[in-house]
Amino acid sequence: MSVALMGISIIQFYWLKKNIDLNAINFNDKVLLALNRVKQNLEDDANEFENFRKTQNRSETSLFKVDNDPLEKILTPSLDDYRLKQYQAQVANTAWLIKPEIALNTISAPDLSRYLRLELQKNGVKLDYDFGVFSNEIEDYTITNGNYNVNIDISNNMSDGGTAQKLNTTMYQVNLFDSEGRKAVGSLRVFFPKKTSFLISSVLPALISSILLTGLILFCFVYTINVILTQKKVSLMKTDFINNMTHEFKTPIATISLAADSINNPMVKSKPEMIERYADIIKQENKRMLNQVEKVLQIARLDKKDFELKIVPINLNDIVNVAMENTRLRVNKHGGTIKAYLKANNAKIKGDENHVSNVLHNLLDNAIKYSPDKLEITIQTIDVKKGVQIIITDQGIGMNKDDLKRIFEKFYRVSTGNLHDVKGFGLGLSYVKVITDAHRGRVSVESEPGKGSSFTVFFPHDPKEMK
Ligand code: ADP
Repeated sequence: MSVALMGISIIQFYWLKKNIDLNAINFNDKVLLALNRVKQNLEDDANEFENFRKTQNRSETSLFKVDNDPLEKILTPSLDDYRLKQYQAQVANTAWLIKPEIALNTISAPDLSRYLRLELQKNGVKLDYDFGVFSNEIEDYTITNGNYNVNIDISNNMSDGGTAQKLNTTMYQVNLFDSEGRKAVGSLRVFFPKKTSFLISSVLPALISSILLTGLILFCFVYTINVILTQKKVSLMKTDFINNMTHEFKTPIATISLAADSINNPMVKSKPEMIERYADIIKQENKRMLNQVEKVLQIARLDKKDFELKIVPINLNDIVNVAMENTRLRVNKHGGTIKAYLKANNAKIKGDENHVSNVLHNLLDNAIKYSPDKLEITIQTIDVKKGVQIIITDQGIGMNKDDLKRIFEKFYRVSTGNLHDVKGFGLGLSYVKVITDAHRGRVSVESEPGKGSSFTVFFPHDPKEMK
């Protein structure tokens, strides 16, 4: 799918690029066509001059041999240059010289502006443009954007530098007065400042929609992969859970079956105290199974948010004491120690006694389960801002950083947990998290592999006061 997506993106990009290129070619053709027409018009005008000169029988003298008529008049763009020149020619008794070198001077700036506008319009080119007439002889522009640049003193700077620079680089140029094999005396140049944005804007809708659609596909792709990975993880966890659960039930079932067989044994039947012992075993194993079932059901209920906290004032120091006493027997059996440091002076909180007590039991259970060698457990209660902290520390196997991030997830078990033959469903800590969250508290853990773990649970004095 990644390869296909990449391929589609590249193809899209290729077609868009091709589209822009085609539009550019089309645009160039239109502009050059228009420029050639303008060129034709300008050359026609020049011929008209020549005819005029001949009919007037003027001699071919220099164009600017005029002394009594102010030259600037020729250069006044607001007047029709063509007529001005005619007038001037008559007055000065000189003639227009259509030698190639001076042919450019026959170009009338207003006419040029008009021709250009009309021809570009006719070809459907609607962009703004700069234009100019470049003279090869003086290597500068005699006309830019409809204004004459010619000075009497040719050595002066004539054209506007900015426009000239743009026109120098333009690809839209046609040589002027180069027909009938004559050498070109100059060129007409047009520059479109907004050409690039115009070309891009012509494909903009297609570009935007393809980016959006590709983005959408990409998003769905990432989302799908994510869902698949999560599902895979969940399914693995569930398999683990089922394996664990069957394992957990197998032992009591086997024990019960054994005890029942024993009761049926004629030798045992005759001894009531033996029967009583086996019945006790059956009862105990049954209770163990019930406990397991209860644990699973509890989590299922928590999952559906189908639980209600019975919030009453409770004293955490008391609850810790009770939990410790309940655990002490098991700890002693394993040859370990458990100590409590109840440093909190104000250990009163509002919470659900049952659930809070379960939280402590779960944490103490884990501390025992995961301390196979050195069983030393300490419980502390500490006053903190707005609440009480309970810290349960063990010196057990600890956990690495990656596991720490995930142990509060449902069904999550550290893989070495299985290796150590420690049984569990991976539900204990997720229960702890759900319950502390429901009390608007917090649970955190610090641990180092091989050194032990320390779980810190914070309960606020009053959940309602917490944001
Ligand atoms: P369970 O104990 O049933 O596997 P939990 O949710 O209680 O499930 O714990 C999740 C995992 O966190 C355990 O599998 C265990 O690897 C790890 N763990 C929990 N408490 C401790 C602890 N005190 N020391 C080391 N590892 C722990």
